[in-house]
Amino acid sequence: NEVVEESLRSPICCIMGHVDTGKTKLLDCIRGTNVQEGEAGGITQQIGATYFPAENIRERTKELKPDAKLKVPGLLVIDTPGHESFSNLRSRGSNLCDIAILVVDIMHGLEPQTIESLNLLRKRNTEFIVALNKIDRLYGWKTSKNAPIEKALALQSKDVVIEFNMRLTHVITQFKEQGLNTEIYYKNREMGDTISIVPTSAISGEGIPDLLLYLVMWSQKTMVEKLTFVDKVQCTVLEVKVIPGHGTTIDVVLVNGVLHEGDQIVACGSQGPIVTTVRSLLTPHPMKELRVKGTYLHHREVKAAQCIKITAQGLEHAVAGTSLHVIGPDVDVEEAKKTAMEDMKSIMSWVDKSGEGVYVQASTLGSLEALLEFLKSPDVKIPVSGIGLGPVHKKDIMKAGVMLEKKKEYATILAFDVKITTEARELADNMGVKIFCADIIYHLFDQFKGYVKDVRD
Ligand code: GDP
Ligand code: MG
Repeated sequence: NEVVEESLRSPICCIMGHVDTGKTKLLDCIRGTNVQEGEAGGITQQIGATYFPAENIRERTKELKPDAKLKVPGLLVIDTPGHESFSNLRSRGSNLCDIAILVVDIMHGLEPQTIESLNLLRKRNTEFIVALNKIDRLYGWKTSKNAPIEKALALQSKDVVIEFNMRLTHVITQFKEQGLNTEIYYKNREMGDTISIVPTSAISGEGIPDLLLYLVMWSQKTMVEKLTFVDKVQCTVLEVKVIPGHGTTIDVVLVNGVLHEGDQIVACGSQGPIVTTVRSLLTPHPMKELRVKGTYLHHREVKAAQCIKITAQGLEHAVAGTSLHVIGPDVDVEEAKKTAMEDMKSIMSWVDKSGEGVYVQASTLGSLEALLEFLKSPDVKIPVSGIGLGPVHKKDIMKAGVMLEKKKEYATILAFDVKITTEARELADNMGVKIFCADIIYHLFDQFKGYVKDVRD
C-alpha cells in the first residue's frame, strides 16, 4: 500500500572508495538478504548497477522506521569500480549521479583512494554519505544480523563501544584534515553542511537499513526537482562492450524518459556520429539466475531511471561517457548528429592552441578528460596538441608525427587503456613516433618524463 509518486524517478547513487573497503560486498549484502528471505522479486543485478525497488527497501527498513514514506520508485546503485566509470556518468559535463556512498573501512580509516574519491565528489558537487564499513571486525563484536545500527550498538560490550567511538572519532578527525565536517548520522543536525556517517557491516548487515533509508529519505527530501521525471530522454553511455552473440553493445544509464525497442538513436562515435536503431533493450536476469551466463531479459520499453544494455548495429566506435540521443517525430537527424558530437567538441578545447604538444589517446571520454586534467596540472604541465578516442590507428600516428619536425619529444602518443593496431605500431616504428601505453595515468607520466630526459641528454 505504498504510494509511489508517479512523478519521481529513482535516484542514481554511486558507490565509491578505496579498494577492498567493501563496496561490492555492501551491494551483495543488500541484494543477498532479500534473496534469502525470498524477496528477490524485482531485484535485478544490472550491468554494473543494481536496481532496488521501493518495496524491497521498505522491507529492509521496516524495523528501523515502520512508517517511512518512500516517494521514489526505487534506488539505482551503480558500482563504480574505478573513477573512470564515475567520470563517464555524466552528460555534457554535468554529473548524472544524484547521490554517492563513500565507503571507508573502519579498521583502516581514510586511504589514498578515499581521498581521491572525496576530491572527485567535491569537484562534481555530488552530495554523499559515508558508509563506515566492517564494524563487525571490532574486537568482540556481537552480531545482530541486519539490525539498525543503534540497536546493534546497544548490544555491544563496553569495550567494543569504546573501540567503536575511538575509531569513529579518528575517522572524523581525518575528514576534518581534508576540510570536511562529518558526524554519525543520527546525531547530524546539519545535513548538507555536515556529512553523515553510517556505520555498516556488509557481512552481517548491521546498519544496512540505516544506509538505505537515509539515501532514499535524503534524496527525496532535498532533490525533488532533480528527481522529477521528465519525458525527454536523457541517457549516457557508461560502457561499450563486445558480448558474444550480440556484437558490440552499449551499457547505458537512462536518467530520464523512456526507451523503446526500435527507437532510432544517435551516439557519439570516435569516427563520427552513429545513427542506428535499438535492436534490443536488455537487463540481466534477476539475482538467482545470474549464473545462467549470457542470457538477458528483453524489454519492449524501459522507463528511467534504469541501467540497460542496448544492442544495435554499428556501435563499434561508440564512446563511453557521451550522451545518447533519440530521434523523435520532431527531431531532425542532422541536428541530432551535431548534438551527439558536441561531447567530443567540448573536450577539444583542452588541446593546446600553440599546436605543440603530445598526442593523447584514451578509451572513454571520462578517462580522456581525467588524463588531460592530469597533464594540465601545475606539477605535470605536459602540453597536448591532439586527442583521440578508441584504439590507436595509423591516422593517429600520422597526426602525432607532425611534431617530429617541431619538437621531437612531442612526437609521442600517450595511450591510456587502448589497443594499438599492428599497422599503427609499424608505422610508428618507421616514423620514429614513440608510443607509451599504460592503464595507470601516473605510469604514462613516468615513462614520458624518462623519455624526454633521454632525448634532451
Ligand atoms: P571493494 O573492493 O570495495 O569492492 O571490496 P569488496 O566488496 O570486494 O570487499 C573486500 C574484502 O573485504 C572481501 O574479502 C570482503 O569479504 C571483505 N569485507 C567487505 N565488507 C566487509 C565487512 O563489512 N566486514 C568484514 N569483516 N569483511 C568485509
Ligand atoms: Mg568491488
